[in-house]
Amino acid sequence: MAERHGMYIGGRYVGGKDYFDDTDPATGDVIARFPLGSAKDVGMAVDAARDSLRSWSQTPPPARGRILYRIAELLRKDKDRLSRVLSTEMGKVLPEASGDVQEAIDIFEYMAGEGRRLYGHTTTSELRDKFAMTIRIPVGVVGLITPWNFPIAIPAWKIAPALICGNTVVIKPSSDTPLCVYELMRIIEKAGVPEGVVNMVSGQASVVGEAIVRHPHIEGLSFTGSKTTGEWIIKNAGFKKVGMELGGKNPILVMDDADLELAVDGIIWGAFGTTGQRCTAASRVIAQKGIKEKLLAALIKRTKKLRLGKGTDPKTDVGPLINKAALEKTESYVKIGKDEGARLACGGKRLAGPGFFHEPTILDRVDPDMRIAREEIFGPVLSIIEAGSLDEMIDIANGTEYGLSSSIYTRDINMAFKAIERIQAGITYINASTIGAETHLPFGGVKGTGHTREAGIHGIDEFSDIKTVYIDHSGKLQRAQIDVDD
Ligand code: NAP
Repeated sequence: MAERHGMYIGGRYVGGKDYFDDTDPATGDVIARFPLGSAKDVGMAVDAARDSLRSWSQTPPPARGRILYRIAELLRKDKDRLSRVLSTEMGKVLPEASGDVQEAIDIFEYMAGEGRRLYGHTTTSELRDKFAMTIRIPVGVVGLITPWNFPIAIPAWKIAPALICGNTVVIKPSSDTPLCVYELMRIIEKAGVPEGVVNMVSGQASVVGEAIVRHPHIEGLSFTGSKTTGEWIIKNAGFKKVGMELGGKNPILVMDDADLELAVDGIIWGAFGTTGQRCTAASRVIAQKGIKEKLLAALIKRTKKLRLGKGTDPKTDVGPLINKAALEKTESYVKIGKDEGARLACGGKRLAGPGFFHEPTILDRVDPDMRIAREEIFGPVLSIIEAGSLDEMIDIANGTEYGLSSSIYTRDINMAFKAIERIQAGITYINASTIGAETHLPFGGVKGTGHTREAGIHGIDEFSDIKTVYIDHSGKLQRAQIDVDD
């Protein structure tokens, strides 16, 4: 019988009336059980977060930063074990699981340093003997709702800036990966984060998630997940400060002059890394006419060599999909693509169970208007689109409702700059794949991906408000716009 774990509320591990199974997507085995939290549990977590808000927000930011450094250190010490837990729970291969934990370490270290910056700015006043500046203030209690595809990194990307800015937190992990967030809670507790400052409530989206979205004492909400859920949250969050990191349909443009091998390496990594389950996954290759057939042949050859298997097996290149629904969605999009007239170039089949495995798949002769070229599949399916000029390729790249990551392979600096300027996306890579964010740079998108930026210096904007401060040391009433020097 898999071990039961608790939710983390007010510094205590709290059980529930009912529990749900947390399963290994490669085998279907139950690896842990978590409480199906209730709206009442969310209420208790919010109360704990409110009770600790004053003391935490008044702790000097460098002291908060020292605790964040301790979290990073504890994550580093436990990295190998955590990577195995993550790989087992989520399915990604071990090197990627280890990268996921490393991203968490990096963001806690980066945000710890922010404790000695958190800059506002000073400026002039139009009046004499008056001083003007801005400072950063916490948003308050923030609700964090996270997906399963980066089950330690994404919670860390939100918790670290939330804490350094002086907020307290209620997090709902994805129901597919609560164990990773539970492990993070254990580390947060061990690092000395005071009780009530970070709380975790597990359970269903329709109960726990919606209670967080609607809670009147949650002031800020940071969500990473699908566009559909994001749209619902925006409509129901009221006046909360909301951050949104949604889906992508990320293109790689390959020009005739590209380094073919380099492009193939980048496309295979971008399309089939994490089994295509990254918001930044390369799901469209837009290839120029002169290189397309050579590129396609090389991609097919490489794709056929990829070995499917359990993420913890060192021989595995591509792990399972996260669950049955994801497997069925992938399968249905392959069918949609074929029905729309695309040609199956390789892969195309799911594997018999146990586990949720689907072959890495390439669909050729894809038209930019087809659903497989516009909609996020979030599985190991790559569409190949042929085009003529760079302008046409950029128009195709921009022809979806998303705008997260993008890439171009070319040796021509002028073409690279044109792509940087014209592709509608939050991120553009030159001669590199669409994946590979670094934590000291901002991350986020445009259009239907949402416009929030996480990580880097801009990552603290989501978790702080700006207060404007005027200090009048004239000793008399001075009226702006009226008592000014002419
Ligand atoms: P999802 O179905 O939207 O779920 C994300 C989280 O929201 C889960 O914790 C889920 O809980 C919860 N949730 C679902 N409906 C809710 C509601 N009505 N109210 C409150 N919470 C709700 O997305 P997913 O399948 O986990 O993740 C895949 C998506 O995330 C993809 O679209 C991917 O592109 C996107 N993503 C974006 C980024 C980025 O930074 N832009 C990064 C990673 C992933 P349950 O698990 O309990 O259902």
